Amino acid sequence: MDLDFDRNHIWHPYSSLIDPPPVYPVERAEGVRIFLEDGRGLIDGMSSWWSALHGYNVPELNAAMRGQIEKMSHVMFGGLTHEPAIALCKKLVEITPAPLRRVFLADSGSVSVEVAIKMALQYWQSQGRGEKCKLLALRNGYHGDTFGAMATCDPVTGMHHIFAGQLTQHFFAPAPQVKFGQACAEEDIAELRQLIEQHHTQLAAVILEPIVQGAGGMRFYSAEYLRRVRELCDEHGLLLIADEIATGFGRSGKLFACEHAGICPDILTLGKALTGGTMTMAAALCTDRVAEDICRGEAGVFMHGPTFMGNPLACAVSNASIDLLLSGPWQQRVASIEKHMQRALAPLKDTAAVADVRALGAIGVVEMHEPVKMMQVQEALIERGVWLRPFGKLVYTMPPYVISEDDLGQLTTAMVDVLGNL
Ligand code: PMP
Repeated sequence: MDLDFDRNHIWHPYSSLIDPPPVYPVERAEGVRIFLEDGRGLIDGMSSWWSALHGYNVPELNAAMRGQIEKMSHVMFGGLTHEPAIALCKKLVEITPAPLRRVFLADSGSVSVEVAIKMALQYWQSQGRGEKCKLLALRNGYHGDTFGAMATCDPVTGMHHIFAGQLTQHFFAPAPQVKFGQACAEEDIAELRQLIEQHHTQLAAVILEPIVQGAGGMRFYSAEYLRRVRELCDEHGLLLIADEIATGFGRSGKLFACEHAGICPDILTLGKALTGGTMTMAAALCTDRVAEDICRGEAGVFMHGPTFMGNPLACAVSNASIDLLLSGPWQQRVASIEKHMQRALAPLKDTAAVADVRALGAIGVVEMHEPVKMMQVQEALIERGVWLRPFGKLVYTMPPYVISEDDLGQLTTAMVDVLGNL
């Protein structure tokens, strides 16, 4: 591969084109491994950023894409529809909390967040309450890279602070401090309550990542906290947007993380694992009330319609991925990954450089006291046959659910070896 061209001409995520760090050339991927050009196979501990639940080169997913390609790779969704989209949306309505019955198919996670925000704004505009146009988000939250989504990410510690001056100003409550498994006391929710009480006349919605704050710190918070947020939204007439782009499809141990708290949001975003990590597609679901009020408003329609909306290939492979997930013992697999990670990563708790070790569902996190040298850690892990992408102080893994006990052992042993010796 022409890596010189890559270095000099191609942007990678959050990358520099002046003296960029090396990127590793991947030739193919199979099962839980990605294979570099030099033949080395690496266990993908990232599932290609939360998405490849079933691993790679999965016969059922390949067959779904192959079958659909022969019929129609794409067709516009304006004025036309097709079976893969109908089947997928039926499935999404069935498996998400019951009140979520209306589906918008978006083309990426960030776009589904834009769609969710627009839904919330249009909902209030339709009722003549256009002043309710602000959002309340959580510090340490992360919702994507587009402008609407960026405005809901943590404005201080978040990745988008350099654009702060150009972003819509929303309200931010402190990141939940109360951990997963703990009860939520009044003081844990007090500031959020205060912000809602003070600003609810301007607020359209609360937006949050349920249970797991991902890119903003890989933090797992109390289900009761989430329940209290839902109650506060109800008390003050706010919509709740749950961003399950990362947590959706079983990653936290429940099919959707909202289930830990037994709550239903008014709007739900999904992405990443929707297509089993094969293609880009996302979705925003909402309740009948939200959809109907939007459509009764002045515009009479929901104002969004991307060119590749409802792409049939992406719909077909999403259908196959959801079928494959639900027809297998995903809950047992995720539970045993959680148990393994809790046990295998525990020795790192005694390491001076390690601040915290935690696992929930198929997510394992080692938080260091200081930011790690990403390339050095990555290279050491690669020598041990493992692919991870450390981020600041965090070295974390969310492997494919199909990972074997042996491969999981190799993954966690590599993490313990490398991080234990920093
Ligand atoms: N929301 C959350 C919670 C995410 O983790 C991400 C992706 N990291 C996004 C939104 C944005 O999704 P995408 O990268 O597909 O645009």
